Amino acid sequence: MARVRFNDLKKHFGPVKAVDGVDLEIADGEFLVLLGPSGSGKTTLMRLCAGLEEPTAGSIFIDDQVVNDVAPRKRGIAMVFQSYALYPHMTVFKNIAFPLSVEGLPRQEIRDKVEWAAGLLGIAHLLERKPALISGGERQRVAIARALVRRPRVLLMDEPLSNLDAKVRHTARDELKKFQREIGVTTIYVTHDQVEAMGLGDRIAVMNEGKIRQIGSPDEIYQEPADTFVAGFVGLPPMNFLEEGGALTAFRPETFLPADLITDQERRIFNFRVERIEHLGSYLLVYGKVGDNLMIANLSLRHPVEEGTEVPFAVRLADIRYYDRASGRRIVK
Ligand code: ATP
Repeated sequence: MARVRFNDLKKHFGPVKAVDGVDLEIADGEFLVLLGPSGSGKTTLMRLCAGLEEPTAGSIFIDDQVVNDVAPRKRGIAMVFQSYALYPHMTVFKNIAFPLSVEGLPRQEIRDKVEWAAGLLGIAHLLERKPALISGGERQRVAIARALVRRPRVLLMDEPLSNLDAKVRHTARDELKKFQREIGVTTIYVTHDQVEAMGLGDRIAVMNEGKIRQIGSPDEIYQEPADTFVAGFVGLPPMNFLEEGGALTAFRPETFLPADLITDQERRIFNFRVERIEHLGSYLLVYGKVGDNLMIANLSLRHPVEEGTEVPFAVRLADIRYYDRASGRRIVK
């Protein structure tokens, strides 16, 4: 296992600053999620770490060694991509064994290692099948087993679950987290899916335009967004923003409630013009306006709010965050 550190790391493609000065340290055994929109530089950062791209500037450390000039195969890193290709003519066993066969390891050692990886991922009963005869979720586990069989020091995963349908993704996420804990391999996981990021990450690094905007636990990222980008990107629906002078007042939809539900005296009351209500099973989304600002309330309770009415809604002061309108940075009051 290993620590990974990026020091002012940059990768430019002509005028495009794909990675633009990233400083980040990933602890031994940590599960770090890189979360960001398409084009924010996540994949490029992983490829730099794996040695598939050369940095324009900056350093990559694994433990205390700078690995900028170390060949990819010698870094002790394994990668799993979204488009994991298995060899269709080989059995699951041979697919997992492939990296070991290439190294020319003795047969018994290969068998032991394949059985270890297959056991870890719950696919030991599939070893004699061909990839066409197993499910998408199982194929994904074969790809992960193949990555783990060489006992990498660092595991990189780039949207590994995005080919799976929504139902399987839940269980796949749970299994991924379990085996990562069990073997404690330092993991960097790329996704643009915030639910996946919140569910999997020990910490999340939110990226945009080649830069890391915030690093923290899922709870910190959600409760204390460092800027308006993070506040708007994390959370479904995102935070509400109210323009007030040079500042933006922001709060989460689930903290914006009919005023009579907030008994705390430390609160702010707004006149909320309710325009539309969506019933989404276990909760309601209420769309409307405060002044000219679009607002959304997420009500978990059935509550008599009607479309086309103006209702007093409130937020506890403790749930309000403030941001500078020009820079987008958080203002702590
Ligand atoms: P996605 O979620 O869509 O995969 P990403 O966050 O992983 O996006 P990257 O793939 O790292 O983003 O791309 C970051 C930026 O760098 C994009 O603007 C992309 O077009 C650009 N880029 C990436 N690879 C190259 C390349 N080989 N040549 C030129 N530009 C590139």
